[in-house]
Amino acid sequence: MKRSFKFRLRPTVKQVQALSACLANHRELYNAALQERREAWRRSAVTVSYGMQSKQLKDIRRVRDDHARWSFSSQQATLRRLNLAMEAFFRRVKAGQTPGYPRYKGERWFDTVVWPSDRDGCRWDSTPDAGHIRLYLQGIGHIRVHAHRCIAGRVKTISVKREGDAWYVILACDEVPTNVLPPTGRVTGIDLGVSEFAALADGTLIRNPAWWRQTEERLTKAARRHSLRYPPGCTRSKRKVRSSQNLAKIHRGNARKRLDFHHKLALNLVRENDILVHEALNIAGMVRAPRPKPNPDRPGEFLANRAAAKAALNKRILDAGWAQFLTILTAKAENAGRLTVVVNARNSSRTCYQCGQVDAASRAGITFRCTTCGHEDHADVNAARNLLRAGLVLIQAE
Ligand SMILES: [Zn+2]
Repeated sequence: MKRSFKFRLRPTVKQVQALSACLANHRELYNAALQERREAWRRSAVTVSYGMQSKQLKDIRRVRDDHARWSFSSQQATLRRLNLAMEAFFRRVKAGQTPGYPRYKGERWFDTVVWPSDRDGCRWDSTPDAGHIRLYLQGIGHIRVHAHRCIAGRVKTISVKREGDAWYVILACDEVPTNVLPPTGRVTGIDLGVSEFAALADGTLIRNPAWWRQTEERLTKAARRHSLRYPPGCTRSKRKVRSSQNLAKIHRGNARKRLDFHHKLALNLVRENDILVHEALNIAGMVRAPRPKPNPDRPGEFLANRAAAKAALNKRILDAGWAQFLTILTAKAENAGRLTVVVNARNSSRTCYQCGQVDAASRAGITFRCTTCGHEDHADVNAARNLLRAGLVLIQAE
């Protein structure tokens, strides 16, 4: 199976300069290649292909020493990334949608360089006798890695990512051996909720950690302060940059804590259960922003509905969290030889587990009280039990 590992890099000051230059050159390449495609299309409706651009790379490297010092393969990978973005764009145009044309990448929007295969302009664990792990990158040197764990499998691709002022390496590994756990004879249904993080079919409630709300509030406050001080369109000053960097730092801290929580919870659930049933998330509906309401007094303008916008944002944060948790759960289950079952969650919170009656009125806040048979339960636990039953039916049908 496949798996990826992420480690913090500990570059020297000189290596940081080289890493920044490497990123800047790859970004320049991306933007130049994008410009070429745009202009060729605008002037004569000619499509420039990846193959053509890859061929030009040799000429670029001949005349530009600053580009020639980096790995040829990582530059090709950057061109392929643009190619993917273009293909996705044309696919959506064909499907009748109106996507935005791929954009030029500003400094803050280009943070990753990919080396498509180990030992091609890069090398994982380049100095095995040094006592600690180093990553070799062509043009940059041997960078120390804070390897807090052992990796497994064979390293396929190596990516280097900048997050704020920190640098990370991400190893995508293949042929990672699975670690099958002995069966426990237990099964569970998981309902992801808003008031609690999740409810299990056996009645367990998994609460959002206590720090959750605090960290989110801290982020909201910092974001509000930032947008009040530096409204859109105000000049980019040193203070503004520092303020937005600070905001991003808080955001990354929160994301790290959430990731850790998701990993630990998923590990426990996978250890304890042979079969895990959860609902299917509506990914397409998740990323779509709510449609703004037109202003009845001023035609052509829209109401600034702050409460709705905030609720929508909170919803998107929640959705993103759930998607991340389920991705981790699925990967851990696969690694442990456990079965995950995805069921359609339609009506699972409105259906009575006892008698099967579907009635939205049965649900009153956090309690479920069946309007037909009087069955009472925690609303999310009732839903989790419905999910589990649906999942078990699904397995038997196969
Ligand atoms: Zn009932």
